[in-house]
Amino acid sequence: MDTLKICHLYPEVLNLYGDRGNIRCLTQRLAWRGMKAEVTRVGIGDSDPLTDYDLFFSGGGQDFEQEVLLKDLAAGKGDNIRAAVEDGKVFLCICGGYQMMGNYYETSDGVRCDFLGAVDFYTKGGEKRMIGNYAFELGTESGGSTVVGFENHSGRTYLGSGVTPLGHVLKGCGNNGNDGTEGVRYRNVFGCYSHGPVLPKNPAFSDELIRDAFQRKTGTRPELEPLDDTVELLAHDTVLERVLNGTAGKEE
Ligand code: GLN
Repeated sequence: MDTLKICHLYPEVLNLYGDRGNIRCLTQRLAWRGMKAEVTRVGIGDSDPLTDYDLFFSGGGQDFEQEVLLKDLAAGKGDNIRAAVEDGKVFLCICGGYQMMGNYYETSDGVRCDFLGAVDFYTKGGEKRMIGNYAFELGTESGGSTVVGFENHSGRTYLGSGVTPLGHVLKGCGNNGNDGTEGVRYRNVFGCYSHGPVLPKNPAFSDELIRDAFQRKTGTRPELEPLDDTVELLAHDTVLERVLNGTAGKEE
C-alpha cells in the first residue's frame, strides 16, 4: 500500500484554529483511495533527524508561542528543517508556521524572532490585525486553483526578490495587504496565511500536495483517482461567493 509519512511539527504550540484538520484531510483523501498516512508528532525537545518524512505540516501560533520555539530551532531542529526543504520535501506551513520558515518575525512589540531562513522573506507585526475570510489564486506551478480560507495575523510578510508567492489575492489581505501576494512557494514549501483548516474546502490544493509528495518520494507524479468532492466543493464555492461579493479580510 502507498504510504505517505507525515511529520506534524510543533503540534503543542502551533495549534490555532483547528489547523491540524489539514492532516486529517490528507489522511482521509489518501484512505479514500486505498492509500495510507503515517503521522508522527515532533515537538519541542524531541530529537529527530527529520530525514524519514515525505510531508511536513506546521500550523499557526500566537506571537508568544512563536518565541517559545526559538531555542528548540537553534538546538538542531532548524538545521534539520532547512535540510529537508533543500531536499525537496513537501511542507505545508500556515501563518505562524509559515512565518517560522522565513528570516525573521519582528512582533508589533518590537520582539525579534530570528527564524529559519529556509526561505527568503521576513515578517513585521503591525498595529492592526488582518482578519477575515479571504480568497487567493494559486500560481500555475502550484496547480492554479482558487483557495478560500480565513486569515488572522498582525504580521506583514515581504518576500525576497526572486521568491515566488504561493498565489495572488482575489479578496482580503494576504501577505501584507499591499502587494497582492499571498504566501510563498519555494521548492516544495507551500506557506500561506490560510487557517480554517485550509485543505478540507480546497480539494484541488490538497491533491496537489499529495501528488507533489509522491512525486518527490517515488520519482513519478501519480494519477490520483478522482473523488466525489460534492460537499467539499459546495463549501469552497459558498465561501468564495461570500468573499467575492461581501466582506473579506481587512485591517481592524
Ligand atoms: N502571531 C502571528 C501574527 O499575528 C501569527 C498568528 C497566527 O498564526 N494566526 O502574525
